[in-house]
Amino acid sequence: MQFQNSLEFARQLDAEDPLRKYRDEFHFPKVNGKQVIYFTGNSLGLQPKRTQKFVDEVMNDWAALAVEGHFHAEKPWWDYHEKLAAPLAMVVGARPEEVTVMNTLTVNLHLLMVSFYRPTAKRYKIICEEKAFPSDQYMFDSQLRFHGLDPNDALVELKKREGEHYWRTEDIIKKIEETGDELALVLIGGVNYYSGQVFDMQEITKAGKAVGAMVGWDLAHAVGNIELLLHDWGVDFAAWCSYKYMNSGPGNASGVFVNQRHLNKKDIQRFEGWWGTKKETRFLMKPEFEPMENADAWQISNAPILSVAPYLASLGMFEEVGMNALIDKRKKIVAYLEFILEEIDKEVDGTFEVITPPDRGCQLSVFLHGQGKPLFDYLMENGVITDWREPNVIRLAPAPFYCSYEDMYRFGQILKKGILKNT
Ligand SMILES: *Cc1c(COP(=O)(O)O)cnc(C)c1O
Repeated sequence: MQFQNSLEFARQLDAEDPLRKYRDEFHFPKVNGKQVIYFTGNSLGLQPKRTQKFVDEVMNDWAALAVEGHFHAEKPWWDYHEKLAAPLAMVVGARPEEVTVMNTLTVNLHLLMVSFYRPTAKRYKIICEEKAFPSDQYMFDSQLRFHGLDPNDALVELKKREGEHYWRTEDIIKKIEETGDELALVLIGGVNYYSGQVFDMQEITKAGKAVGAMVGWDLAHAVGNIELLLHDWGVDFAAWCSYKYMNSGPGNASGVFVNQRHLNKKDIQRFEGWWGTKKETRFLMKPEFEPMENADAWQISNAPILSVAPYLASLGMFEEVGMNALIDKRKKIVAYLEFILEEIDKEVDGTFEVITPPDRGCQLSVFLHGQGKPLFDYLMENGVITDWREPNVIRLAPAPFYCSYEDMYRFGQILKKGILKNT
């Protein structure tokens, strides 16, 4: 399609957008009385209007029923989390029994490492990407120290080539093969939070399994964004947060995937609690732990219902729309955004560099050469909510659920004015 940098053209794309009605299903912050152009759905997704009802229902049941709500609420709390498994399985390409919701992301990655990082004298190394999201770096370091290992030896960081902004799959595979039978675990962010690069999860998982390692993925920036086929790819485990593209609210409950091949096994190491035991006998309060046959075996505590409720509300929207329609719009709106950037770049004379490779999801990370923080401040003051990383990278994620093509056009105009003003 031949794009045009004009308001009429952007509005035409919106008129043809099968998802256009969903924009009104979200609350938008306002700047100067106008809805913002929201590019930070990769950090905290907007609030769906229907979420309030789901939270109110829990609050009302709690007020009216108190402890009885566990079994007699409109949606009883004791197994409320089970309602999320089927829609989440659809989003991540899993079987419903492989998916559960619990805790928060870094906590879950730690818990999954308890089960799937079992270092031995020979096989103890972990492969991750260099400059991983800081929480992941702290997790690797503390896990290795917990096992009495030296991160300088046991942690193998994947490097990018000199002067390149992205990792090459062939380099990753080579590193996995080189590490070979010393490799215990591959654990990478499926979509890199900084550059927006999408890793070839299928090929990397295959390579990791071929040398006998466990393969897990941190899907914080992948879930609800790109196509995932965790089961078919043979991934061992994965975890993600629900507050980025999944629009479930700040600090909200995390999702977990455990491959079917690890379910229902007696010899697995795991930190356990009462919500992981068979629900049929849970309230007999017996001393023996009998694991649930699905990923719920990893649950420890009873579920945080006030946190799970917004996740259920949001998953209803993902179910209605389906990942294919979201991905179709995401590709088109990201392509339009890149086109707008190129057009503005010509008008202001060459300052942008998109560092996100073609293997991408919703996010474009852009170097604004010659620009600094004042431009970012100008964008924010003019209702463009974006994210600035020193020295001069902005990350733009036009979430397909609620961003419009008109937003992209208007962003271009504000960006141009901001640059002309600052130079
Ligand atoms: C957002 C993000 C996290 C956040 O971790 P929490 O435990 O939810 O605070 C972790 N890892 C990656 C890669 C992220 O992008």
